[in-house]
Formats: sequence, C-alpha cells, structure tokens
Amino acid sequence: MIRLMKQSHLFTKTRREAPKDEVSKNAQLLIRAGFIHKEMAGIYSFLPLGLRTMNKIVGIIREEMNAIGGQELSLTALQDKHIWEKSGRWSDEVLDVWFKTTLKNGTELGLGTTHEEQLTNLMKDYIRSYRDLPAYAYQFQTKFRNETRAKSGIMRCREFLMKDLYSFSKNEAEHSAFYEKAKQAYVNVYKRVGIGDLTYITFSSGGTFSKYSHEFQTLTEAGEDMIYVHEGKKIAVNKEVLNDEVLKDLGISRADLIEKKAVEVGNIFNLGTKFSDALELVFKDVDGTNKPVIMGSYGIGPGRVMGTIAEICSDDKGLIWPESVAPFAVHLIALSNKKAVEGVEDQVKKVADEIYAKFVKRGVEILYDDRDATAGEKFSDSDLIGIPIRYVVSEKTIANGEVEMKDRKTGKVEMVNISDFK
Ligand code: ATP
Ligand code: MG
Repeated sequence: MIRLMKQSHLFTKTRREAPKDEVSKNAQLLIRAGFIHKEMAGIYSFLPLGLRTMNKIVGIIREEMNAIGGQELSLTALQDKHIWEKSGRWSDEVLDVWFKTTLKNGTELGLGTTHEEQLTNLMKDYIRSYRDLPAYAYQFQTKFRNETRAKSGIMRCREFLMKDLYSFSKNEAEHSAFYEKAKQAYVNVYKRVGIGDLTYITFSSGGTFSKYSHEFQTLTEAGEDMIYVHEGKKIAVNKEVLNDEVLKDLGISRADLIEKKAVEVGNIFNLGTKFSDALELVFKDVDGTNKPVIMGSYGIGPGRVMGTIAEICSDDKGLIWPESVAPFAVHLIALSNKKAVEGVEDQVKKVADEIYAKFVKRGVEILYDDRDATAGEKFSDSDLIGIPIRYVVSEKTIANGEVEMKDRKTGKVEMVNISDFK
C-alpha cells in the first residue's frame, strides 16, 4: 500500500453538496469527502480515498477468514445458465434480482448474484473422498443484483463487492464446528472495523437444514431491517422468526426484547445438502459409500460495512473513521499564508515538510495538506474526510517550537514539541 500522499496531488476534491438525488447519509458524506462517485442509483465507483478504506476493511476480513482456514480464490462473474437450472434458481420468479446477458451466438449467461452453484460445480473436480474434506474457499468478488430499491447509498448497491466463503464438510459435526468458528471470526471482524458494540448476532430462519441461520445486524436508523434486541444477552431475533418457540429456545421473554432498526452487515447459513444434492457433489466416505457434501455459506458486504461505519461514525462536520479503517492514520496540515518571496524560506512549510518526511520514514500512512488554501478550507476538508489524528503546523505553533494535535473523534487538542517527532 502506498504510504504517502500529498493533498496537492490528490485529484479528488471535496464538495459542499452531494447530488440532489442522493438521499442516504452515508453516500452524501462519502461523495462530499471524495471517497466515492455516484454513477447511477445504487451504482458507485470507489475513488482513491474510498478504495483505501475499502481495502482496509477487506484486509481485516481476509485475515479473519485465513485464520479459520479459508483459502482465497476468485470465481467469474459470468455464469453458466445450466448450472443454475440444476438448482432451480435460473428462473426470475425464483431469483428476482438477476441481471442476465447473451453471447453473440445466443447463449444466455447470468451475471453472478452469488456463487453457491458455480463453486459447488467446480468442487466436483477436486472433492472425491473423505480425505479431500473439509474445504473452505472464499473470495472478494463483484456481485450484480437488480435490487428494486437502491436508496441506502453503498449499503445497497446493484453492483457490489462481497466476501463469500463456502464450507464443504463430511458430516454435521465437522460442519457445526466450522460454523461456530466462522461465527466468532465474524464477531472479530465487526469489532476490528469499529462497529462491534452495535452489532448483534441475530437469529433468523435457517431454511430446511437447520433451525436457525445467523445474521449480523448493526443498529442504525439507516438500516432497512427491524430486529428485536435482547441487550442483556447481546443477541437479537429477526422479524420472521419472532415466535414463542424461538423465545423458548433462546431462554428469553418477549418483554425483554426491544424493536430496533438495523442493517444486515453479514450472515452465515447452513446449506445442508441443498446444493450438493442439486449439483451431485458427493464424496466417498471411509465406509466406501457415496455421501453428499454438507455445505455452509458465509457472506459479508465490505461496501455495506463501509456505509454502515459512515452512518455511525460521523457528525455534522463529516466522517470520523475508526483507526483500523481510516484511509490514512494522520492528516498533516500546513497553514502557510506566506507567498513565496525570493530568498526567504517559508518556515511553516519547512517544518511541515520535515515532519511529513519523518512520518513517511516510519511507515505511517499520512495525508499531507500542502495545498495553497485557506485555514478554513483546510480544516473543514479535514473534518469532512475524517482522518483520526490531525497535526497543524502554523506560524503561531512553530513560534513556540510546537505543532497542534487534534483528535477528530474527541476533539481533544494537545500541543506537541517539534523535537518529539522522530
Ligand atoms: P439483504 O436482505 O439486505 O438484501 P441478502 O440476504 O440478500 O441481504 P446475502 O445474499 O446473504 O444478503 O449477501 C451477503 C452479504 O452481502 C449481506 O449480509 C450484505 O452484507 C451484503 N449485501 C447483500 N446485498 C447487498 C447489496 N445490494 N449491496 C451491498 N451489499 C450487499
Ligand atoms: Mg438481498
């Protein structure tokens, strides 16, 4: 990752207003701060600052997936219709978010909305016996979904990145052990990106193969889901499974649940043998018989996570990135109002350049506002972009041999000795 950047070189600019048709707070802030560019409703490009944050989120998820034995691959977005016909999901009535396209010779293809079918089919080439199991494969890959409503900014896109992991196991016990590990890895992810306190493991319907699946729901008014939160146990139940049986299973009473708006930032599913049956993915067990592979799927939308962070970690001035996902760790601002005069060195610039060079040498990710702009512009841009720590070098601060340090989140200001920068 590139560690250094001078703001005078950054081609993106902040803007006062988001496009008129943009109704979501996350997209408004991210567009104004120059993180994303709106192409169409539900379709956004990621600009240099936005991509840095996205890559931080992706990096955290990747570490957690590798830690539980995930192996990264990358499947294609163009998908074979015949594979989808086998699972019965090619029909637009069954899967209502399809984008489909056609080859010049008339062959129909699907633009991947998800990858269970394709990966199950691919695994038939590699999974033969119990010795080949378990296997855990994941990817960060673009999904296409013709979402009807796209009013939640980057939290609901028609083209978006998804981390999707699929587990292939010999039996229920092996599957369940991994499912629990994945659940913990998800808890780690949300904690590390800074939304752990507001994210609830939420019981939802498990389909045919297990009683429950689990959604990871983050409380925010911007969410499209309604969940029922048990604050004491730090769990929640979603609308579709809120009934007496579930309450009994979880040992909770309806009176203790509070209805809250939330966004689903991830989910984990037991797929059982649904896809292995449909696509005939079997393995030869120790006893010599053929058995269907037991599968699970585990999704996270890194862009939706980024949008959720923007919703939660922001104020009326702009974004407030948690350190772990901030595009840069430090924002250095030089407030030099001296026009270059021949023979006279600009002391503010000199001190700021030196501090910048020291951070770069230490490998700190730093954005250096070296632009010829007013203090007001620089401060409001800095507040909007939301880098956690800001250093300000001005004539006033250097007169005392100091620079000002401000914490974006707490607003706390401290003076730091110039000689302290090593
Ligand atoms: P939702 O109910 O919100 O549409 P989903 O059940 O369709 O979500 P999955 O298909 O399981 O979601 O996708 C896995 C993850 O991908 C979700 O938990 C979410 O984080 C993310 N995701 C799903 N749809 C979108 C989208 N349209 N834009 C951005 N991220 C998405
Ligand atoms: Mg959906």
